Amino acid sequence: MEIRDATHLAGKGSIEVAGLIREELDEPKAQVAAIGLGGENRIFYASIEQGRSSASRGGLGAVMGDKNVKAVVVRGTQDVNMADPEKFIGLCNEVHEYIKFRNDNPIPGVMPILAGLGSPQEMKVHDEKWHTENFMWGNSRTRLKGFWTEEIAREWTETMEKARTRLISCFNCPMKCGATITPKGYPTYMMKCFTKLTYTMAAYSDLDFGLKIAQKATEYGLDGFSAPQVMAFALELLENGILAESDFPDLPEDNEGRFFYLLDMIVKREGIGDVLAEGTYWAAKKIGKGAEDYAHNNIKKHEQLPLKLSMLNPIYFLMYSTGEKINITQIEGQFPQAPFPKKEHRIKFTEDWIQVPHEKFKQYFIDWELRGENSIPYYPTVEMTCDIVDWMEMMHYIDDALGMCAGLSSFPLKPPYHIHNYPKFITAGAGIEMDQEKLTLAAKRYRTLVRCVNIRCGMRRKDEAPPANHWKKRFPELEKELLDSYYAMKGWNDDGIPTLDTLNELELDYVSAEFIARGILTADDKAETTA
Ligand code: SF4
Repeated sequence: MEIRDATHLAGKGSIEVAGLIREELDEPKAQVAAIGLGGENRIFYASIEQGRSSASRGGLGAVMGDKNVKAVVVRGTQDVNMADPEKFIGLCNEVHEYIKFRNDNPIPGVMPILAGLGSPQEMKVHDEKWHTENFMWGNSRTRLKGFWTEEIAREWTETMEKARTRLISCFNCPMKCGATITPKGYPTYMMKCFTKLTYTMAAYSDLDFGLKIAQKATEYGLDGFSAPQVMAFALELLENGILAESDFPDLPEDNEGRFFYLLDMIVKREGIGDVLAEGTYWAAKKIGKGAEDYAHNNIKKHEQLPLKLSMLNPIYFLMYSTGEKINITQIEGQFPQAPFPKKEHRIKFTEDWIQVPHEKFKQYFIDWELRGENSIPYYPTVEMTCDIVDWMEMMHYIDDALGMCAGLSSFPLKPPYHIHNYPKFITAGAGIEMDQEKLTLAAKRYRTLVRCVNIRCGMRRKDEAPPANHWKKRFPELEKELLDSYYAMKGWNDDGIPTLDTLNELELDYVSAEFIARGILTADDKAETTA
C-alpha cells in the first residue's frame, strides 16, 4: 500500500480522474474509487464514484473529501483462494441457473421493474408511465397524471436509444443493470437505476436534459436523489419569496439552465450554493423565514424518493422509519409491496418461494387482501409486519457484510441468493462453518452495531419518522404500536437504543461500556439521555 500526493488532481471530475490515474500508473486495469469537486468541497450529498458503481446516499464523498483523499486505487494481482473451490463453483453454477430461470420467468402481476432481478432495469425499460405519473415532480410536489403520452414515449425511447452506448454488467455478473450513456456533445458516463429520471422530474423537463445534467453531476460526484431535490427546493423558495432574486445573480430564465446554474453554485459552494450544499434540512434551518416547510421530503435529515402515497403501508412505514442507511434499496425487499388481487395468484406465488426463512411468511402473503379486514394499514398485523421487516432487513445486512449486490439478494422478489444458500457459500468460500441460525445471529449483531453508531451520533426515536405527507392517510396510534413492537422485538428501549442486555448478549460489551461512559444508557439500564 502506498499513499501518493494527489495535489495535481484537485478539482478533476470523478470519472476523469480515474482515467488520469490509470494513465499515470500505467495500470489500465486499476480500479479507482474517486470523488469529484462535490466531495472535495464537502457537499453533504457528495458521492464516491467507482467505474460502474457509486456510493451515493448519506454523503460518503464528503467524508473522503474531509480526509483529503481524492481517490483509492486498487490493482489485484494475487490469486483468490477458496476453502472448497469445487463446492463453491458448484454453488455459483446453481445460482447462475436460477438467474437464467428467473430471467425467463419474470414475476407476473407486478410492475416491470419489480418482475425481474438486479437493480431496477431502468436502462433497458422504456415504459416510464408508472414513474412519471406516480412519483412527484418538482420539489416532490406535483403528480402529473396523463403525462405519459404516445408522443412522449416515442421521444424518450429515441433519446435513450441514441444516448445509450451499451448495456453493461458489474464484473462477472450475468445481469446488465447499467449502461454507458453518451448524450450528444457530452463525454460518456455510467448510469443505472432511478437517476435516469430524478433530474428530469425535479426540473419538469425531458429525458434528454436529465441524461445531460446527470453526466455533469456524476463528474462532480453528487447523489442523484438528493441533488435534484435540493435544486428544486431552492427554486421553490425563490418562487415563494423566501429566497430573493439577489440570491441568484445571473440566474438563467429557463428551468434547465437554472438547474445547471445551481449545480455549479452548489459544488463550488458559491453564494446561496454554500447553504444548499448542506441539503434541504440544514439549508432550511439556515435560511429561516419558513423555509423549513419546503424541506418537506426528508427522513433522518436526508431527501427521500419523491413518492407521495395514499394509504399507510405498515411494512414500508417500518422500513422507512428504521432504515439506518437512508437508502431506497434498503427500504425495499423480498416481500411483495402489495397483495395480488386474486388469492389463487397469491397461492401460486408462494408455491416456489424457496427464499422465505420460515413457512409462516407464505401464509402472511396468501391472506393479504387488497380490501377488507386483511388489507393495509391493519394487515399485515403489527406482529407480522415486524417479522417481515426483520427478514427483509436481515438480508440487506448480510449483503452489506458480504459485499454482495442487493440486486441479486435482498432487493428483488425471489432472488438467487438467500438465507438458505448464503451459509453454504460462506463455508465453501471462507471455510467458516456457517448455518442459517449462526448467520441470522451474525446479521443481528451487525445490524445492532450499525444502529449503535447512529445512536452514538445522536439518532433517536424522534428521527424515525417518514415525511408527514408521505402517505395521505396516517394512523398515529398504529404507527406508535409498530415502532414500539419493532423496538421490543429488536431488544431496544423506547427510544430505539439497544439495551445493555441486548448488547451483552450479542457480545457487544464494549458498546455497552461506551454508552454508559457517554451517558446514553445508565449502568442499571433504566434511563437514557435523548439528544
Ligand atoms: S445484479 Fe448487481 S452486480 Fe449484477 S449487474 Fe446488476 S447491479 Fe451489478
